[in-house]
Amino acid sequence: MLNKRHCNIPIFIPQKACPHQCIYCNQRYISGQQTAPTLSEVQQTIERYLSTAEKDTDIQVAFFGGTFTGLDIEEQKNYLETVKPYITSGRIQSVRLSTRPDYINTEILDILKHYNVTDIELGAQSLDKEVLRFSERGHTAQDVEHASQLIRSYGFNLGLQMMIGLPKDTPEKSISTAEKIVSLGAVSSRIYPTLVIDRTPLSAM
Ligand code: SF4
Repeated sequence: MLNKRHCNIPIFIPQKACPHQCIYCNQRYISGQQTAPTLSEVQQTIERYLSTAEKDTDIQVAFFGGTFTGLDIEEQKNYLETVKPYITSGRIQSVRLSTRPDYINTEILDILKHYNVTDIELGAQSLDKEVLRFSERGHTAQDVEHASQLIRSYGFNLGLQMMIGLPKDTPEKSISTAEKIVSLGAVSSRIYPTLVIDRTPLSAM
């Protein structure tokens, strides 16, 4: 039997709720989007994608960009409530989101579970403490390990992003990070090269 076709409906929440300025990041600039979408814009985006989706497609709403779980709890719920009717009616199957490892706790995971979030992707970037520090990530490797264990204990699919070529990174450190990502039980990993984006601290360096 053929696997079902999969479609993501991307909703960008640019750098909203980020407590730090990682030295390489300027989400507003790279996404071309200055502000977080309103609830009606989220609805419009979903409707637009659904209008062209083929039958029998597994459809997931994906909140990319900033730190979803760093938003006020009410704001998180409002976004998830907007998606809920589509899940109830079976037009959308699940939700995924990206966030930071230091913004995961049991209260947040309970809410995400309730709203059919199935996949949580953490920006780990590196599991080397020096790389994390020089990239001004504002969290530690232990934060990544702890959040990963918690996410898996709830039965979510764990994704861990890594970024190669950050300040103080080496090929050996990148390989070690990749090995740790596997051992933490990630079912997916997006590997980004470090690009020097204009209007970032990295570009100033
Ligand atoms: S946590 Fe993510 S979105 Fe926020 S500044 Fe860092 S890389 Fe950008």
